[in-house]
Amino acid sequence: MLLGILKETAPAETRVALLPESLKSLLAQGISIVVESGAGLAAGASDQAYTQAGVTIAADRLSLLATADLLPLVNAPDAADQARLKPGAVVIGFLKPLDAPHALAAAIARPTTLFSMELVPRISRAQSMDALSSMATVAGYKAVIVAADRLPRLFPMLMTAAGTIPPARVFVIGAGVAGLQAIATARRLGAVVEAYDVRAAAGEQVRSLGAKFLDVDLGGISTEGGGGYAAELSEEALDRGRDLITRTAAHSDVIVTTAQVPGRPAPRLIRRAAIEAMRPGSVLVDLAAPAGGNCELTQPGVEQTLNGVTLLAPLNLPAEVPVHASQLYARNILNFLALIVKKGEVVLDLSDEVLAGACVAHNRIPVNPRVSKLLEPATSTS
Ligand code: NAD
Repeated sequence: MLLGILKETAPAETRVALLPESLKSLLAQGISIVVESGAGLAAGASDQAYTQAGVTIAADRLSLLATADLLPLVNAPDAADQARLKPGAVVIGFLKPLDAPHALAAAIARPTTLFSMELVPRISRAQSMDALSSMATVAGYKAVIVAADRLPRLFPMLMTAAGTIPPARVFVIGAGVAGLQAIATARRLGAVVEAYDVRAAAGEQVRSLGAKFLDVDLGGISTEGGGGYAAELSEEALDRGRDLITRTAAHSDVIVTTAQVPGRPAPRLIRRAAIEAMRPGSVLVDLAAPAGGNCELTQPGVEQTLNGVTLLAPLNLPAEVPVHASQLYARNILNFLALIVKKGEVVLDLSDEVLAGACVAHNRIPVNPRVSKLLEPATSTS
């Protein structure tokens, strides 16, 4: 069996699906591993490092695509690559099956199996495969580092002979995986941190990191949507959060916003008035930009300066920390592979809850019910 490691082709992508140090267990099972030249370079892994680990460098990308039985990737292959997949190939990656299901049509039309890391159920057994959490952790950290770099102020309080400098004030909206990492990072840099989340359960975690949790009276409505996620709120409930955010923005130097509701556009929580209330030089990092953004002025992927406030809407912050983002992702991929590779062979048990949940399509048939609903028109015409 042949496992292929491709060079990612998405713009500004620097991560790689598997690093040389993650390959021992696969090689020990007798699996041949072939890497496209330069695949790991941006993530700190040279071709030489791969060959030293026992990997062969591919003659070219096309032959690798045509011969690989297993293709762990970071991003979905484009339509041309999908059309070249070997019959029976198993593709694993962030395939965006809920955001862009039709972009997978060419792969679904082939007798392949597609697993999406976004769809791995967030149950205890699958925690070691939770690549969304891994990438959210990296993004939460990096968002604060980027903000600290762009802020024309210091983060920590300094008491010097030239006077005292007060600490920066950081406001984190959405205290999930990314938000909690942002809080921890801002605290380590010495900032005073406040955080808001609709889930009351987040309060204890926020406080345990030394930040202040801002509570909003939402009139006792249910804010939990199951699985630890937030529910989509009514406009009235959202408005109460928006009011709090506008008030808090006025004294915040940095806002890192991460609020999301799975499968829905990101809630619009930050009004123009909140940006206008911030001091010139303040920085807002909208980590929800890939889902449209939490700020009503956000343009995903575009940096703006509004009344002197820097508004950043990065689409792929983990790619700015490629070594560790790849390392964490590779471990998630390896743990996922352990479910489908037995003694060097692919053995697919789609009755397994994790595999069934993560499977986009198997042998031309959509498997995950949410994806199959979205794909109905595309698959009926393919
Ligand atoms: P997410 O990316 O979907 O959302 C980020 C945060 O935004 C969440 O904390 C959510 O409550 C918050 N949010 C949503 N709407 C909001 C609004 N209107 N106002 C303010 N905040 C809002 O979530 P995530 O970070 O991936 O995970 C959230 C939670 O899911 C975790 O804290 C955890 O409890 C659970 N989780 C479980 C597992 C697991 O069991 N394997 C893994 C990851 C996360």
